[in-house]
Amino acid sequence: MQYFIDVILPIPLEKLFTYSVSETEAEFLRPGMRVGVPFGKSKIYTGLVHNVHTNKPEIYEAKEIDRILDEHPVINTIQLKHWQWIADYYMCTIGEVFRSAVPGAFLLESETLILRNDEGDVDESKLEDDEFLVYEALQHQALLKVQEVSAIIDRKNILPVLNRLIEKNVILLKEEMYEQYKPKLVRYVKLGKDYLEEEKLEALLNDLSRAPKQSQVVLSLFQIQATSKKPIKVTELEQASGGSKAVIKSLVKKEILEEYFVRTDRVSYDGEEENYDLKDLNEYQEKAFEDVSKSFAEDKVTLLHGVTSSGKTEVYVKLIEECIQKGKQALYLLPEIALTTQLISRLQEYFGEKVSVYHSKYSVQERVEVWNNVLAKKDKAQIVIGARSALFLPYSDLGLIVVDEEHESSFKQFDPAPRYHARDAAIVLAKFHDSNILLGSATPSVETFYNAKIGKYGYASITRRFGNVLMPDIELVDIKEQSRKRRMKGHFSERLFLAIQEALEAGEQVILFQNRRGYAPIVECSTCGHSPQCPNCDVSLTYHQYKKQLRCHYCGYHMALQESCQACGSHTLDTKGFGTEQVEKELETLFPDAKTWRMDLDTTRGKHGYEKIITAFEQQEMDILVGTQMLTKGLDFRNVSLVGIMNADSLLNFPDYRAHERCFQLLTQVAGRAGRTKKRGKVLIQSYNPYHQILQQVSTHDYDTMFKEQLYEREQYKYPPSNRIIKITFKHKEYNKLNEATEWFAKALRTTLGGNVLGPEYPPVARVRNQFLKNILIKIPHAQSVVKTKAAIKKIEKSFNSVSQFRSVRVIYNVDHI
Ligand code: ADP
Ligand code: ZN
Ligand code: ZN
Repeated sequence: MQYFIDVILPIPLEKLFTYSVSETEAEFLRPGMRVGVPFGKSKIYTGLVHNVHTNKPEIYEAKEIDRILDEHPVINTIQLKHWQWIADYYMCTIGEVFRSAVPGAFLLESETLILRNDEGDVDESKLEDDEFLVYEALQHQALLKVQEVSAIIDRKNILPVLNRLIEKNVILLKEEMYEQYKPKLVRYVKLGKDYLEEEKLEALLNDLSRAPKQSQVVLSLFQIQATSKKPIKVTELEQASGGSKAVIKSLVKKEILEEYFVRTDRVSYDGEEENYDLKDLNEYQEKAFEDVSKSFAEDKVTLLHGVTSSGKTEVYVKLIEECIQKGKQALYLLPEIALTTQLISRLQEYFGEKVSVYHSKYSVQERVEVWNNVLAKKDKAQIVIGARSALFLPYSDLGLIVVDEEHESSFKQFDPAPRYHARDAAIVLAKFHDSNILLGSATPSVETFYNAKIGKYGYASITRRFGNVLMPDIELVDIKEQSRKRRMKGHFSERLFLAIQEALEAGEQVILFQNRRGYAPIVECSTCGHSPQCPNCDVSLTYHQYKKQLRCHYCGYHMALQESCQACGSHTLDTKGFGTEQVEKELETLFPDAKTWRMDLDTTRGKHGYEKIITAFEQQEMDILVGTQMLTKGLDFRNVSLVGIMNADSLLNFPDYRAHERCFQLLTQVAGRAGRTKKRGKVLIQSYNPYHQILQQVSTHDYDTMFKEQLYEREQYKYPPSNRIIKITFKHKEYNKLNEATEWFAKALRTTLGGNVLGPEYPPVARVRNQFLKNILIKIPHAQSVVKTKAAIKKIEKSFNSVSQFRSVRVIYNVDHI
């Protein structure tokens, strides 16, 4: 009997790939274990066993696997089912889901190592400079990695150098699989086994009387042992005894102490061991809690619609507590984990060590540890807080999923595939686990609210802020009028200027919101009208004054700002529009005594970037915080009495069917940062168009009217929730080929699907990184089968790919594009 396994490879292949295994291997292997397998000419990939069987593949000769990498499955069967659902629904391959679902360290890759060739006779004088550098490095160390060589010769493309060195017999190459993940080990000490009895210990201390440092260490070890039963870290002993590393080392050598290592988890919680009691819910929270529980009892996905600062988090906490008391796992999903230091510490206060955090800014090691803790169902990972990727952890028994800020568009993965929506994928995951799921928001997405309206989802609400704090008072400021009367100071209306002044005088803090980073989005020559463009993308470069640079926000291209116009040479460069940097600059002149800070992509890079700014603002080390939409998400500041929106118009004029909904959500959320304690908060929204219905709805906190109007428009124009949409993006570097290809595709779609095919059309930025882009949008009415429609599209893609001149055009599906 021959045995085979079907393997998921972390690459976009339509089908699983089959490998042959021995009978013993077949008995050992189970779905979810990793294997190293050869693929293509020379590549070794990490594959995942999907199933074990005895059916020989017909089309190709099955290769043997290279090695087995796990003793136990690292992926469970619910995950495999979930991945398959994601692949089918979002029109990608399960291999792509595999790649993005597991920590990078799980995907072993073959890596080229460069070795010294000890056989070769090297004539140093014949080596070129870069060759010599590599040669010299290899005299000091036996092997180099590709990146290291690259660093040594300061160049990306090192192949030519390596080839020359091989020809000259200087080096050899070696392919090696390597495991990127190394668990962190902590060094512990205990008393050597010969000294465990009391008499022997006394004798030992006598012996050591002439070595006071050593006896001090032994005594300290004793003291620590007397007060705590926990294992003793070497570092701890060093501190307690004042003994050096060398002293401890010599004790270990004499076998008076014994060293041992334990794997630890890097994500450690360093708070107090005692947990705080949960807060008592007020009557509104209590009512919402009961409504949620009732809805859960009916197995319904449930929406908690609570205004900003109504205390939704405390309701989640109650539900999490219930869940973990039943011994089940809980998942708390957030749109962007980096902004949620506040939340993490809040949950840790209640649940201490039970909370784990998982997100992409964490190191590979940290992610592997959380993964393994969840897999082993450890207590310390019973509650996971994470951004969308936390959805992919190996839960075996989920009891609750909370999707906080469910309306946030960052729950949707944009690039690369799988382009999934974490909220929707979480709903499916909850179903597979028979788990409860709660969606929370102050401004639910139109889809979710619609599902609640028609009774598909359960619904609970809190309409008052906690502690009887009033909703912020929102005032619209007409800057057209103010400009006409010359009442503007830079981009500040007189009204906003005075309000800031007042807040600062009262010792309160201010948040200012502007949805663009940089200094100005456009630099323009006022003589000839030329404005510098990105050479790789069809956009103007954004001016960053701080670095005196022009930057492209699409591809990262940058250049120094020129003194004069590149087109006509005049010194008449001017800026148009404004970003956070300019607001910050103006504040320096308007409020020279205020401490101002900026929070946007440019100031928050790195793992702790946000944290620093948020903490400093919380501790009132600054007076004014200027920022982009990063400011909106779930921050709870105590002393902010004023929020200013510098310009609401840019949010309204976005060419997207969701722009108005988004604008409402964004402004309501930013406004919600104001006056969260006793005093009523003030919000000033500057706009050229203050009578716009969305701004009116924001200022009167009128979610219901916003919802009704948006729903009506969506129905009129056949957008979600009344229709489903699939956007297909085509990419190619040649303009004409792209046009031809997309016309062909659209025509084929129209023949099969009829009228609900829009485009092809260029997006507002039609070229990015030297690739032209064109979109086709497909609308699928309720009556039409989604599954069949997707199958029809896939079939068309097959024929498309068989036309040779189209094969190089990339086709990207975005299901439920938002
Ligand atoms: P939301 O998530 O709805 O914006 P939060 O949960 O952040 O609101 O609550 C707002 C503030 O009110 C927080 O500072 C929180 O600690 C406090 N709070 C909410 N509920 C309670 C409660 N039941 N008892 C005491 N404080 C509460
Ligand atoms: Zn010019
Ligand atoms: Zn660019």
